Amino acid sequence: MVSPAIALAFIPLLLTVLIKYRYFFVLFYRAILVRIWKDCTTGLSREERAYQYVLTHCTLGDPDSILDAFDIWCSNVEFISNIGPKKGKILDRLLMEQSPLTVLELGAHCGYSTVRIARSLPLGARLYSVEMDQRNAAITEKIIRMAGFDDSTVELIVNPSDEVIPRLRSDYSLEKLDLVFMDHWKKCYLPDLQLLEDSGLLGKGSMVLADNVLFPGAPKFLRYLRKCGLYEWKIHRATLEYSRGIRDGMAELIYQGIK
Ligand code: MG
Repeated sequence: MVSPAIALAFIPLLLTVLIKYRYFFVLFYRAILVRIWKDCTTGLSREERAYQYVLTHCTLGDPDSILDAFDIWCSNVEFISNIGPKKGKILDRLLMEQSPLTVLELGAHCGYSTVRIARSLPLGARLYSVEMDQRNAAITEKIIRMAGFDDSTVELIVNPSDEVIPRLRSDYSLEKLDLVFMDHWKKCYLPDLQLLEDSGLLGKGSMVLADNVLFPGAPKFLRYLRKCGLYEWKIHRATLEYSRGIRDGMAELIYQGIK
């Protein structure tokens, strides 16, 4: 039995831990506990709940209103790891500067970044969006069409990224990727980047953007960037989407093509 005096001595330590890691506790509550509770009580997935909200709070054919509805739901109701409005603005700016004609997205999830990218593309550009989860892909498909983009602008590919990348040349007649946006499983960042290098689809000046390289983090990917000498790269630092106080960043890579 612990004496009351010893128990009291732990209170300051407990308070310190609670204060220091409060943003992580909030994230755990919103992303895990609320999700489990709502999954049980609604019978829908978190992505389907987000979709229902967006459907009833957006203007069809207006990509901005779809993104706004997602942002409101993810900020106030449940957490979904979209790129979010803060890092989204960095993505918007880089897309404007780069004006890419052929874009590959790895990890569409429920279509937030897909719409965000598609709305910034120049005329005649095409986005190939890869999502391996069938249920999420079905939502992404609806979100893309709600935003007013057709097959000629956004093509959704429902398959794991490591199966899609080696077939991009043969199945989709691609010759070069101007921009790749990675926001899928962080453990896949490095193998998928190496598959992209092997595919020959990265040309000098091709841009690769990788979200969440600091949180949850992609340490092997960052270690590879430091050593490989194939890229000029930097990290755009920001906070985690829909969260305050958790540091995150998006890596920007420019392929140089020289070992
Ligand atoms: Mg992300």
